[in-house]
Amino acid sequence: MKYALVTGGSRGIGRAICVKLAEMGYHVLINYKSNIDEARKTLDLVAGKGSTGELIKFDVTNNEEIEVTLNKWMENNKDKYIEVLVNNAGIRKDVLLIWMENEHWHDVINTNLNGVFYITRKLLKDMLVNKYGRIVNVVSLSGIKGLPGQVNYSAAKGGVIAATKALAQEIGKKKVTVNAVAPGFIKTDMTSDLNESELKNMIPLNRFGLPEEVAEVVGFLASEKSSYVTGEVISVNGGLYT
Ligand code: NDP
Repeated sequence: MKYALVTGGSRGIGRAICVKLAEMGYHVLINYKSNIDEARKTLDLVAGKGSTGELIKFDVTNNEEIEVTLNKWMENNKDKYIEVLVNNAGIRKDVLLIWMENEHWHDVINTNLNGVFYITRKLLKDMLVNKYGRIVNVVSLSGIKGLPGQVNYSAAKGGVIAATKALAQEIGKKKVTVNAVAPGFIKTDMTSDLNESELKNMIPLNRFGLPEEVAEVVGFLASEKSSYVTGEVISVNGGLYT
């Protein structure tokens, strides 16, 4: 049995990624912050694919909680290691910079950027020791292009993109790869406040994407088939911007 961890696996894109990894034969550790009912639904979907999984609750902004929770998992699973990590958990708190409060900035940076650092550092050692690992960071069009009202979010996602490129150079020799997937507008809770019928006019494929369409690309990067791809950012945005 091979092991994968998906942060923010309880809903949206993270859920679709858990299902994809289950389809690929992984035992999936489904991380969530607070929404246990939705996390359980993801676990049911994983089981529906004939694979296994477990819920693993921690807040990606809380390094101590991450350490305690993952140390416990490692202690109980001594002969195993997590070979696929998908850093997917994320939040938006959109506001023009001129009105942005410290909390808007720090919450978004802590979740989208610092969380990636804490968890990746924690799981990287076993991947290096085992000379195999796949890290996939879910970033955003906002981190490539920059979007107004999202200076905090663009900075966080842009930071993850730069970190992905730097880390790829540190770990390539150990056959561990790290890549990023940058979605555009995807139908999830995060975008439920946006008007698709208006916004779709600027998307060449003329619609919002589905979480499963992002999960397909993550699945490829998480697989052995992507063995010569590292430090890359792949957009999944219906042609909106590349
Ligand atoms: P959703 O809002 O639908 O789901 C967010 C997920 O992240 C939930 O599982 C939530 O857990 C989890 N989460 C949030 N904060 C934390 C935290 N502090 N610790 C642990 N888990 C946390 O988001 P999406 O599925 O839309 O987004 C997934 C990723 O894709 C994010 O990184 C987002 O930035 C990115 N993205 C999304 C786009 C879109 O159009 N939807 C576009 C571009 C990028 P819980 O259920 O417990 O609250």
